[in-house]
Formats: sequence, structure tokens, C-alpha cells
Amino acid sequence: MRLVILGPPGAGKGTQADYIIKKYNIPHISTGDIFRENIKNKTELGNKAKSYMDKGLLVPDELVIDLVEDRLNKEDCENGFLLDGFPRTVAQAVSLDAILDKKDKALTKVINIDVKPEILVERAVGRRVCKSCGATYHIKFNPPKVEGICDKDNEKLIQRQDDTEETVKTRIKVYFEQTAPLIDYYKAQSLLLNIDGQKDIDKVFEDIVKGLN
Ligand code: ADP
Ligand code: AMP
Ligand code: ZN
Repeated sequence: MRLVILGPPGAGKGTQADYIIKKYNIPHISTGDIFRENIKNKTELGNKAKSYMDKGLLVPDELVIDLVEDRLNKEDCENGFLLDGFPRTVAQAVSLDAILDKKDKALTKVINIDVKPEILVERAVGRRVCKSCGATYHIKFNPPKVEGICDKDNEKLIQRQDDTEETVKTRIKVYFEQTAPLIDYYKAQSLLLNIDGQKDIDKVFEDIVKGLN
């Protein structure tokens, strides 16, 4: 299964990705996670990416595409993968097609998580992530058993630096301008699986599995 999960910030991509990769036994490739890891490790790439991420803007295509190609060339991607947060521009989507073409492969499906803009801000601002394992929670919609503590490893939950109301609003705007055109791009390739992301987390996952089978 070679999958892309598409949707605006806060739609629930990462949350669903966790379930999907376990069910289909494929690696989860989140470009946002890769950048955050690079920022944590103070790499040159992390330094460059941070200035864009802090403003809610997209990191330039040339910093993203090679990184994804390298990742897709790793052995664990041979039986499939789930791309989360990539592609985010038409140029990235065209490059992804070319990368897969070189390997005589193609995408299986593009899961498009649809959520109304009004709901996205509350979802993203209330998001909390484990600083150790990356598990995602929501203060209201998906709270941990103990406030501020990860259920899985008892580590502290933190708020992402770009999950402030102002930055989230910029990210949503950037999504509609630069990423939403990918919906038509993949519809034209008959790859799109539209999912109503406003249902409960379990129900959204059920719909995804039904759509993939
Ligand atoms: P994305 O990866 O698309 O930015 P996340 O998966 O991190 O989104 O989800 C954003 C926030 O919304 C998180 O706090 C998550 O717990 C919460 N969330 C995800 N899916 C749902 C849902 N179906 N209903 C309510 N809250 C959700
Ligand atoms: P995410 O974790 O997917 O919400 O991404 C967080 C931030 O990382 C985005 O707001 C962008 O600044 C940057 N980013 C992640 N993936 C990409 C991508 N494919 N292209 C450009 N920027 C990206
Ligand atoms: Zn954790």
C-alpha cells in the first residue's frame, strides 16, 4: 500500500496515520516530524526549516523533495508507505510521481481528510504531543488519562510551537492556497478517497479502512 494522507492542519492526519501504519504495517513518513527532529538536533536543515515553520509558511520545495526521495529509497518503503504532510504543493506532487515512476511504482490511494475550517483552529490549538514518543492528544477531544502526561510512556506532553491561534490561521490559509489544488490533481488520477474527518476518531478510521479495501 503506497498512500498519501492529505488534509488541512488539524484535520487528523497524524492521528489516523498512527492507526493506518499499524493495520497495514507500513512506515509513517511525516515531513513535519522529520523537520521537527532536525530542529531538535540543531542540524543545518532544521535551522533553515525553522524560520518558515515558526511563521506557518511552507518550507521551500527544494528542501523537501530530495529528503523525501532519500526516505522513499530506504528498504522499509519497499512494501509501501504512508506519506503525511507531503506533498503540499503541485510541484511536490509532480516530483513524487517522478520519484515513484523511476522505481516503476505508483500511489495506491490518496486519503483526503475533509474538515471545515471553523473546526481546525480549535483542533490544532488544543493539540498536545508527547515530547518523547510523539503521540498526539487533544485537551478536549482526545485527552490523556492524566492531564499533561502521555498514556504510553508517562512522559510530558507539550504544545507545538506552531500551534498558536495566529500561526494556525496562517497555516490554514497556506493550505487552501497551496495544498488544496492537490485534491483536483489526484482526483484527475482517480486516486482520491474522500473521508469526512468531522466524525469521531474511531469512525474516521473505520471509513478509511472501508475505502481502502
Ligand atoms: P494533523 O496531523 O492533520 O495536523 P492531528 O492528527 O494532529 O492533525 O489532529 C489535530 C488535533 O485534533 C489533535 O489534537 C487530535 O487529537 C485531534 N483530533 C484528531 N482527529 C479528531 C477527530 N476525529 N475528532 C476530534 N478531534 C480530533
Ligand atoms: P505538519 O507537521 O505537517 O503540520 O508540518 C509542520 C510544518 O512543517 C508546516 O507548517 C511547514 O512549515 C513544514 N512542512 C512540513 N511538510 C512540508 C512540506 N511537504 N512542504 C513544505 N513544508 C512542509
Ligand atoms: Zn509518549
